[in-house]
Amino acid sequence: MKTIIEPFRIKVTEPLKVISAEERAAALKMAHYNVFYLNSEDCAIDLLTDSGTGAMSTKQWAAMMLGDESYAGSPSFRRFEQTIRNITGMKHIFPTHQGRAAEGILAMTRTHKGDVVPNNSHFDTTRANFEFVGVNALDLICDEGLDNAYVAPFKGNMNIAALEQTIQQYGKEKIPFAMITVTNNTSGGQPVSMQNIRETKALLEKHNIPLILDACRFAENAYFIKEREAGYKDKSLLEIAREIFSYADGATMSLKKDGLVNIGGFLVCNDDAWAEDFQNALIMREGFITYGGLAGRDLEAAAVGLMEALEYDYQQYRHATVEYLAHALDARHIPYVKPVGGHAVFLDAKAFLPHIPPLQYPGIGLANALYLDGGIRSVELGSVMFGHFDAAGVEHPSPLELVRLAIPRRVYTQSHFDYIVEVLDAVLRGRDKITGYRITRQPKFLRHFTCHFEPITNIT
Ligand SMILES: *Cc1c(COP(=O)(O)O)cnc(C)c1O
Repeated sequence: MKTIIEPFRIKVTEPLKVISAEERAAALKMAHYNVFYLNSEDCAIDLLTDSGTGAMSTKQWAAMMLGDESYAGSPSFRRFEQTIRNITGMKHIFPTHQGRAAEGILAMTRTHKGDVVPNNSHFDTTRANFEFVGVNALDLICDEGLDNAYVAPFKGNMNIAALEQTIQQYGKEKIPFAMITVTNNTSGGQPVSMQNIRETKALLEKHNIPLILDACRFAENAYFIKEREAGYKDKSLLEIAREIFSYADGATMSLKKDGLVNIGGFLVCNDDAWAEDFQNALIMREGFITYGGLAGRDLEAAAVGLMEALEYDYQQYRHATVEYLAHALDARHIPYVKPVGGHAVFLDAKAFLPHIPPLQYPGIGLANALYLDGGIRSVELGSVMFGHFDAAGVEHPSPLELVRLAIPRRVYTQSHFDYIVEVLDAVLRGRDKITGYRITRQPKFLRHFTCHFEPITNIT
């Protein structure tokens, strides 16, 4: 087989500069050792997130010129609505400015304090939105999903036995709905199988509990199902996506992922009473129901992007880039979560930096080392992001200490990836010098975005 090439060529370029090591050290110190505070021009390769960082196609840019900026009833909304209905089959479609706005509306309208919402793994903003209204957000990832080195095709699956046990324990009155996140971002971008979605739905249906999808990467998940699950080889990604949504009663989505746009989200459902609640909250928080916090041109770009994300050539190329990076890491014995997910490579910071204890945040140590050595911006998904404090105020670490290299869509080429691998290799060889960090300032929610760190120089 020949090389899988980028199914596009470059028409507009954006300058990319590698600043000096001294400048990087100064920039990181100014940023309180938290990469979220860095200026993006100071990052040579920015793998902080794949969210809203992709490149749009000529067709998307052309569609933006068709954007109708009327307050109500624009044709741009109707194209947006039609596209999403075509994919999801849902009756009610609401635009939101981002995925978290859809989650906020869902949490505010459909849950009560003391409720329980199970998910295969909640994304950080999803968890925060539920916890903010006093809901217990439970992660019920399958056992394979907790083993970093174990290779299985669908490590993002819901643990069905644990879900059943949760329903027995809390009772269906306490569970307004359950969720499945495709792909499972928090646990390594791992996919969920159709069978698992089907079985989850069957169990929930028995107890009359609705299923809501966190659909951010539904197209990447559809590609994994096509490649890995029996019975889907000859189905199109659109057909697979439709089947995924057919098991759901509603969905939240960040269009900054598989919408292939730089801003946007949606909230969809079938139930009329839910839609009534969503509509009221949407108007109060986001905007009128035909724009929901977005410009008409944003709706147009998303309508085109959603269909491009379901093109086989695009998904094949995207998965090939992630695989390319993974093979290069294998060759250099750099530890990461196996197999690789759809949108990112998750480095195993615990294995990378075994000398740093979890509460000295090995993920921060590794992320900062990647920046200092090569200007690569990544993000910690470990005890800073997912650690928690118990009632007595004692901090507990996260079971996994990961550093995510998220791959923006249609942005970097093969030489960029080669550079990333060279930097990782250099950091691995000098890892003994990398120190842990302590937090010097932190907010109450989503602390990883804004907390301040300092290096622990006197390791005891
Ligand atoms: C990005 C993301 C969200 C939140 O979407 P935003 O557009 O960033 O608000 C929710 N869930 C998952 C799985 C995500 O990846």
